[in-house]
Amino acid sequence: MSRKLIARINVGILLLLGSWVAYTQNQKQPPQLTLNKVKDDLYEIEGDGGNVAVYITNEGVILVDDKFDQDHDMIMEKIKSVTNQPVKYVMSTHYHADHSGGNAKFLPTAEIISTANARTNILEHKQSNAPPDVAPARVVFTQETAVFLGGKEARARHYGRGHTNGDAIIYFPTLRTIHTGDLMAGTSPLIDYPGGGSVVEWTKTLDAAMKLDFDTVIPGHGKVTNKAGLLAYRDNVEKLRNRVSGLVREGKSQDEVGKVVMAEYGWAAGSLNMQWSLPGMMTELK
Ligand SMILES: [Zn+2]
Repeated sequence: MSRKLIARINVGILLLLGSWVAYTQNQKQPPQLTLNKVKDDLYEIEGDGGNVAVYITNEGVILVDDKFDQDHDMIMEKIKSVTNQPVKYVMSTHYHADHSGGNAKFLPTAEIISTANARTNILEHKQSNAPPDVAPARVVFTQETAVFLGGKEARARHYGRGHTNGDAIIYFPTLRTIHTGDLMAGTSPLIDYPGGGSVVEWTKTLDAAMKLDFDTVIPGHGKVTNKAGLLAYRDNVEKLRNRVSGLVREGKSQDEVGKVVMAEYGWAAGSLNMQWSLPGMMTELK
């Protein structure tokens, strides 16, 4: 073997090693989050898990949701870029690990507030793909609660079943803004039947929340929108329900209905929608 060839092979091995190191470092890199201003003292953090709302008062910060455990440091970095106030409360929209996964890291210094059902769902490990150590809230409510801090209010209310049996919508009255949790998320609803969700109740739940006085909507996932955007989403849930309900009444099998929702709603094979929403809807819409 010539020296030149050996040198080339060595370079090749070095390049391979280099890309392997870059790959493993990339794997460890914290997910990229972006902070956007919504209104006055209200911001939202997008990326990785569910959208986090950041409400700044002169007595501390109120968060809505806290993404995954792995996002904690980056969330804190984003908050510190707009305020020195400490996080005092985390108001939780629901129990899923992409919204409540950071609870354990906030609990030593903040109070986490969720619906009673969200707490139970965490304790009973209702989310099959969640890490085993998601921490539940210490303070729970069944219908409505509110936090008053620095002269500002954040109100949390359970309007009924939908994405789960313990969804809360968080309302900032003076800012006329709501955080819907996953009652609005992405393009097609995920109905967590193991966690008590319901496609029948979902639209009723949103109709009740629609009575609030608001013009701005922070969804559980996706871009900030308005009341018309939420209404369009609500109508899309109804459309899906009517479509599936029609197929079920025609006597179509779960496989046949699955093919339709994959084609018309973009549900991917093996997705959470196919695992949780589809079998539940087949039963609920019978
Ligand atoms: Zn969710």
